[in-house]
Order: sequence, then structure tokens, then C-alpha cells
Amino acid sequence: MRRWCAACGANQHLLTAEYAAYLSGLGLPQLLSHIEGGQLHSVEAPGGTLVCLESLCALTSRTRELTLSFARPEGLVNTK
Ligand SMILES: [Zn+2]
Repeated sequence: MRRWCAACGANQHLLTAEYAAYLSGLGLPQLLSHIEGGQLHSVEAPGGTLVCLESLCALTSRTRELTLSFARPEGLVNTK
């Protein structure tokens, strides 16, 4: 899903907050605190808060690794 991220000033891939929390391994409460703190870009959408993937990648270098491990279920076992 690509939508306008005002903070980036560009169209970015946006993830649901739940999926971003899962993908980054941060957990939803910590992810939301990063949004409140301004480290993560968020866009309010009818279905809920969406998180800018670009800001998520900047926050945690693990995101790319986790995105790759997403294709391998066993890779998700040791994400913490
Ligand atoms: Zn952004």
C-alpha cells in the first residue's frame, strides 16, 4: 500500500501499526510510543493508524532482516 507521507514529503509504503509492530519486533505499545515521540511517521486512515515503512527502516536496521526472514517461518522464532 503506497500513500502520501507528509513527514517524508513522498509516497511511501505504509503498514498497519499492528503489522509494523510485528515486523519490527518492537511490540505495539513501544511502536506507538515511537509514533508519539516523532521517530516514526504515521498517517491516520479510516482503518486505523498507518506507519511509514521508510521511518520504520530508519528506526530499526532489523526491519530489512525481518522482512527477509518473513519468507522463512523459522526465522521469526528468534526475533527477540
Ligand atoms: Zn515517512
